[in-house]
Amino acid sequence: MTKILYAQPVRDKIIVDLKSRIKILKRKNITPWLKVVLVGDDPSSHIYTRNKKKFIEKIGGKCDIIKVESSIKELQFRQLIESLSLEKGLHGLLIQLPLPNHLSHIDVGNLIDSNLDVDGLNSSNIGELLKNKEPGKYFCPCTPKGILTLLQYYDIPISGKNVCILGRSLIVGKPLANLLTNYNATVTTCHSKTENIEECTKRADLIITAIGKPRFLTKKFINKSGNQILVDVGINKTSDGKLCGDIDFEEIQKNVAGITPVPGGVGPMTILSLAQNLLQAAEKSL
Ligand code: NAP
Repeated sequence: MTKILYAQPVRDKIIVDLKSRIKILKRKNITPWLKVVLVGDDPSSHIYTRNKKKFIEKIGGKCDIIKVESSIKELQFRQLIESLSLEKGLHGLLIQLPLPNHLSHIDVGNLIDSNLDVDGLNSSNIGELLKNKEPGKYFCPCTPKGILTLLQYYDIPISGKNVCILGRSLIVGKPLANLLTNYNATVTTCHSKTENIEECTKRADLIITAIGKPRFLTKKFINKSGNQILVDVGINKTSDGKLCGDIDFEEIQKNVAGITPVPGGVGPMTILSLAQNLLQAAEKSL
């Protein structure tokens, strides 16, 4: 039977640990504190930041959303991030992506001090990931970290397995390939120029899609074993305004061993990882 890999039980389990760690911090007068910079009016970005705030507050942390007009000039934007970084008592700072076109060239990871970089996008944190530094000694990018946590919770083997990742973005595909390599997977990363993606996906024990193309992955991409595990990172809107992933869930679900739903799969895991990174930052300040 196909296992639907929901985030909820993983969150329920980990949240207990997060809440008890926050209690210990509060006894020392420390409340994990995150600031999220939200530029412009992108409706999806507003929903994502609200969900982050809701979760951080649910576990007992503090989260401020700094709303900024989309017309902000680059210099002002850089100065704002610089001044927020100097805030005393702050543990995490992140910039909600995407930025408006005139700011989209900015390397946001490196605008933020590596000690506040709970999104794990600073070159220093990415470098530590490449060096396979011990987990907890650097901030691991949230979506890859969330996928790893989900796989571990459901006892899905990684070591020695063939993993095919679709997408090579800096926030998902590339760091995920490194993270799973650190856990001894054999990883192939596909992108828009890859020829014969099907060959790679059919060979894989684990397929992870992060391309932003609604229901791209159909039956023709999987093999007939019924043993493959599919992880869908994509969050796409269909023409009728509903959310769907990069995988055609309805078509494929009965033909694989496990699959993440959209919504309710990787998305909530990303927020969970953000909270874990924030606590890691706050505990470092002890
Ligand atoms: P991105 O920066 O737009 O990158 C998309 C990647 O997909 C690129 O590497 C691109 O290849 C590749 N690609 C595009 N079309 C392809 C095709 N037909 N075949 C193979 N590869 C193809 O995207 P992203 O920021 O990583 O996000 C990807 C999706 O995940 C989006 O739907 C986003 O909303 C979602 N997302 C979800 C979470 C979550 O928490 N669940 C977090 C982050 C992102 P090239 O490099 O060759 O252009």
